[in-house]
Formats: sequence, structure tokens, C-alpha cells
Amino acid sequence: MKRQVVVIGAGPGGSAAAFYLAKKGLDVLMIDKETWPREKVCGDNWQASLYPIFREMGVYEELEANKQSELQVITMVGPGEETVNFKVENAEWLIPRRIADDIIRRAAVRAGADFMELFEATELIIKKGQVKGIRGLYNNREITVEADLVVIANGSHSLIARQLGIFNNDPASYMFAIRGYWEGLENTVDGNCIWIYDPDFMPGNREEIDKYYFMPMWINIINKEATQASVGCCLSEGLLRAHNMSLDGFHNYWLEHSQTARKYLKNARCVDGMKGWRLPCAKQIEKNYAPGAFIIGDAASAPDPCYYYGIAPAMYGGKICADVAEKAFAENDFSAETLSEFHTLLGKLFNEQWSQYVSIRENIVSKREISRNLIKFALSKPEYPNIYFGATFGEYMQAVLKRTDGHFAFGSHLTD
Ligand SMILES: Cc1cc2nc3c(=O)[nH]c(=O)nc-3n(C[C@H](O)[C@H](O)[C@H](O)COP(=O)(O)OP(=O)(O)OC[C@H]3O[C@@H](n4cnc5c(N)ncnc54)[C@H](O)[C@@H]3O)c2cc1C
Repeated sequence: MKRQVVVIGAGPGGSAAAFYLAKKGLDVLMIDKETWPREKVCGDNWQASLYPIFREMGVYEELEANKQSELQVITMVGPGEETVNFKVENAEWLIPRRIADDIIRRAAVRAGADFMELFEATELIIKKGQVKGIRGLYNNREITVEADLVVIANGSHSLIARQLGIFNNDPASYMFAIRGYWEGLENTVDGNCIWIYDPDFMPGNREEIDKYYFMPMWINIINKEATQASVGCCLSEGLLRAHNMSLDGFHNYWLEHSQTARKYLKNARCVDGMKGWRLPCAKQIEKNYAPGAFIIGDAASAPDPCYYYGIAPAMYGGKICADVAEKAFAENDFSAETLSEFHTLLGKLFNEQWSQYVSIRENIVSKREISRNLIKFALSKPEYPNIYFGATFGEYMQAVLKRTDGHFAFGSHLTD
């Protein structure tokens, strides 16, 4: 079989790429190893920054109709279980991935992309250093597809990206995450997401804990009655190794020892089992091209470096790589030099924001004293409802960095 473009993986990244490539009149085949709709372990938050893409893809209304809830308030629980509520200005939708991903995949098909499920890409065909197609198993039979361009969008376990030497294995930056759907919650309200940055309950050596980034547990309320939630947590491999703990073990420890867990989950139960996943991230958009290929989404370690939202960089990756592909086809030039524009353009969109996120991650989220003071600061300044997200937070960070020459001194500056 010979096609102009093969897209490996029909998640949000692959489907956005297939949609925009097909809209440009290119001959696109998208494949996925699963049968669809398929499940994906996720917090199910669809950021507001995605709404323009949803509109372009013609799926805004259908996705909105399928949202379980709209995230409006983040309750941040800090060390010592101090709590503050932040209003989210651009409400995020909570939609189960099994439903939303399929709506987006169908938009790619409507735009003209062909789709084959139960097709697992096993290897890239590389000739004279240039990617020229894929080999794989379709319904367990060997199959080859030649292509001028391959878009690798097959997620965080991508062996295909590894074949190109593009894979993030840094134990300090990629995470392991687990998530389960729970019911029977108490003391919660609709539209609320509870983020727990409370490393105090962690067993073990404080210095070790502070050395590694501590990601919160989250409880995302998903029904009007506020009795159901997606519950999860993620930690870097480094932190788990330092504590000789499995993620399951960590989560169970939290359930037993945290007052917050008891407050919300005491009489609740997990209905589908906690499921694990690998969650890669990078401090900046990493190399995401090779001669004849783009790598997008989780396969290119694109989730953001602080909150691990990965759907937006995956879908914007799909959109932008299609623009660069259009030029490559017009000039019949699939060299690394031509395709590298993708790296530049995606970087322009995300890198600045990510630098701020790295700052948050390294200087605030992982430091108990700073988290505690940040909460105190927020409680003392009701005029800063959005401190944790928008511009206010950025300005605040800049002020702190300036005052301390880049070194954080804990304390008074946070309440000045
Ligand atoms: C616990 C957890 C919570 C998260 N919460 C959020 C959140 O709330 N909001 C957010 O924005 N992000 C979140 N993320 C990150 C988000 O899930 C990913 O960034 C996003 O799914 C990336 O999309 P993708 O298209 O790159 O990959 P995926 O969604 O993983 O899709 C990859 C597809 O490729 C297919 N595939 C894999 N291998 C092959 C192969 N060899 N051949 C063919 N097909 C293949 C898979 O079946 C899959 O359908 C979370 C991640 C985790 C683990």
C-alpha cells in the first residue's frame, strides 16, 4: 500500500493531525492498534485553550453536550492541609476520554482521512536515513505501508519514537500516574477539583522528597450531585525509587494517612480499579521531527512540565505539523531542515508558558514552605482569585525572583 501520509495513533494528537492534513487535500491513512472507542487513563480535563480547535474541527457542540461537568473552582490543599479555593476563569470541560477521543477521531474521518483500527505499527521503514513508511500487524497479519510522511502520534509508550532516538527517559521528569473512577464522595460540590499538594504526610526523608517534584493527588468531581470523581496521582520515577515505593503503594498510603483523603473519600469506593500509565513531560518542546517524520503529543514528551496537561500540546501539534507538511508536499522536500519548522512553531506557542510552569514546579509546588506561604498569601489577598494560574501568578513569581536574585527566601515576601 502507498499513501501520502500515515498517522500512527488516533488519540487527540493523531486525530487532529489527520483532520488538518486531510483538510489540506492530502491522502491520509490513520491507524490505531485498539478497537474504537478506546479507553485512555486521564484526568479527563479538556482545557479551554482547546475550544478554538474544537470549533475548527466542527466538534465543539458535540463535545459540550457530552461534558460531565465544568471545572470552576480549584480547591488547593497545601502542607498541613491548609486549604484555599481558586476560581478558574476559563472553565475546563470534564469529558471521559473514551467518549471525547472518539468524537475527535470521527471528525478526522469526516474530513477525508481513512482509518484502520486493530493496526499496530511495529517499525518504521527507513531508507538512506529517511522515514519512508511503516511495517505493522493488521488483524495480526504483517502489512507494509509506504508513505512520503509519517506522523508518529502513538502516545507515551511509543517504541516507534524510540526507534528514532526520540524518547524521554529522565527519571526526574517523566511520571507514573494512576487514576480510577470513584463514587460515594462526601463534602464536595459540583464544578470542583481538589488538588492536594501535601507532601507532609509522605513517609521518609524530607530532603529526598523536596529534591523531587511532588505532583498533587487530584479529585475531579464529575457529576451534579458531587458524589462521583476521577481520582488519581502521579509521581516521578525518581521519587518513587527514592522511597522504594510503587505508585499503588503510595496511593494507598495517602488514602490511609491523609486527613484530606478521609474527608472526601472515607465512605467512597473505586468502581473500576486504579489504572496506571506513563506520563512523559519536558521543560521545553523537545525535538519532534526527523527526515520524513513528525512526532507529536505524548510520543514527543509534550505534556506540560507542571500540571501535565497533554491534550492541548498534542492537538496543537497535530494542527501545526499539518501546516508544515503542506509546504513539504508543495516542494516535495521532507528533509529534516524543512520539517524542523514544526519544532520552531510549536515551541513559539508553548515554550514561554512552560518556562513559567518549570519555575512553578521547581520553586513552589515541590517546596513545602513555599506552598504553605503561597496559600497564606492567597488567603490574605481576595483580589487575586486567579493567583495560581493566570498573569497574577506570573507577576508574583517575577517579583519573588527579582527580590531574591533567583534564590527563594521563604517568608515575608509572600505576604507583603
Ligand atoms: C493519569 C493521567 C492523567 C492525565 N490527565 C490529563 C488531563 O486531565 N488533561 C490533559 O490535557 N492531559 C492529561 N493527561 C495527559 C494526556 O492523557 C496525554 O497527554 C494525551 O492523551 C496525549 O495524546 P496523544 O494523542 O499524544 O496520545 P494518546 O492519547 O495516548 O493516543 C495514542 C494512541 O496511539 C495508539 N497506539 C499506541 N501504539 C500504537 C501502535 N504501535 N500502532 C498503532 N497505534 C498505536 C493508542 O491505542 C492510542 O489510541 C493525563 C495523563 C495521565 C496518565
